[in-house]
Amino acid sequence: MSRAWSDAERSRMRRAIDLARPHRTHPNPRVGCVIVGAGGKVVGEGAHRGVGTPHAEAMALSQAGGAACGATAFVTLEPCSHSGRTPPCADALVAAGVARVVIAAYDPDARVRGRGVVRLQRAGIETVVGLMGEDAVRLDVGFHHHRRTGLPYVRAVVADAEARADDAVSVDIAALIGEADHLLATTNGPALPSRRKLAGLAERGHLYVAIEDVQVIGALRRAGLVDAASHYARIGEDHDGLWTQDGLRVMDAGEIGAAYRRIDLERPPAGWPPLICRRAEAAIPTRYGRFRAIGYESLDDGRHHVALVRGRVTGEEGVLVRMHSECLTGDVFASLRCDCGFQLQEAMRRIGEVGRGVVLYMRGHEGRGIGLIDKLAAYALQELGRDTVEANLDLGLPADSRDYGAGARILADLGVNSLRLLTNNPAKRAGVEAYGVRIIERVPLVAGENDHNRTYLRTKVAKLGHVIDMDDRSAGRKREKDGEGLPPS
Ligand SMILES: [Zn+2]
Ligand SMILES: [Zn+2]
Repeated sequence: MSRAWSDAERSRMRRAIDLARPHRTHPNPRVGCVIVGAGGKVVGEGAHRGVGTPHAEAMALSQAGGAACGATAFVTLEPCSHSGRTPPCADALVAAGVARVVIAAYDPDARVRGRGVVRLQRAGIETVVGLMGEDAVRLDVGFHHHRRTGLPYVRAVVADAEARADDAVSVDIAALIGEADHLLATTNGPALPSRRKLAGLAERGHLYVAIEDVQVIGALRRAGLVDAASHYARIGEDHDGLWTQDGLRVMDAGEIGAAYRRIDLERPPAGWPPLICRRAEAAIPTRYGRFRAIGYESLDDGRHHVALVRGRVTGEEGVLVRMHSECLTGDVFASLRCDCGFQLQEAMRRIGEVGRGVVLYMRGHEGRGIGLIDKLAAYALQELGRDTVEANLDLGLPADSRDYGAGARILADLGVNSLRLLTNNPAKRAGVEAYGVRIIERVPLVAGENDHNRTYLRTKVAKLGHVIDMDDRSAGRKREKDGEGLPPS
């Protein structure tokens, strides 16, 4: 349900974002609101200024007064629907007689997401979401991350020696300490390092953290980044590109592992640990035959993956491989919303039948990498009419954030020379091949199409380039020759 926004609408939302930006509202979100009267003129503006102060919508409404009747409100975040220190903004908009509400982003908190919108719509107000949603999330990425995941938001800034010698960077370090002071004063987070410790770390050009996120630190340490000079991490929002201007590279915590993998692939530094480690092995008899289950730990994120191996695969060519992305709802609960469980069973059945192959069960791929909670939240949005890709994007998440590095490493560890990959997803093939794995054939895996997932499957074909012949149920038996890329329909 993508819609075209007019330049006028964009400029109103841009203004709302600009209004919100200067304020330090932590732990509340930055929110801006612009109200455009029936005549097309701005009649009210507001921005949240911090805990205990009025919400952006309330400020804009009081400025607009009677002119709010029949007006359009542009707001950067879904209006609140709960009574806190202030009455719910959704109700205030209704009471003021606003005719239309344009929202940049849904509330990231899964417990309340969509409620403000529903409240407005029930009151007969035309309500649309998604105008400049990405910009709105970027406005306060720390807030969105924290409300989505419950984890503190940590960013890493990597500076080269030249950038560090630059005066502007020293100024930035001071700004960074100031920001950390503010956060230390306002956050009840775990294991806060002292200001002095932070300053010391920054001066020595070492890792800088405002809040220690144990998982992130662990990942950094394993990646060999903690002890490297000129690495800083900071919490919170970007200084509007300031860091990048000064030759600093700003990364998300989640990106750090990916950056490490890139470095590792280009030129593996001597003594760096392998990315995956074989931890345990046991036989598992299944209804599709006997498999060996080999448990692997991914060293850059600590995740546990399983390789279900049937027959001899070491040194073999054209081994049948399913790289299966974990899907709790499909694999375990037999959900009909997707085809994952069916594909897993079908892959095991086929590998059992031919007597040789590998099912890689990749953890952390839930919902194409967005995680279980966000996947359920995306399902909730799909109930409101969004498709699987739009829902991810609405939540400020990528349509597909899976990485196949660990899977590729496991195949290398198993000694598989080349493989035939069971997938309908050419992008997955490319993702695996990017890690140097030789795939001689993509073997379609069509199973479990039903009334509940037909739209989902069609979306995967239309938007994610999957190759599924929706009308030919025998497609699962057809094979696509190497190099014969089918265009997405
Ligand atoms: Zn509010
Ligand atoms: Zn699934």
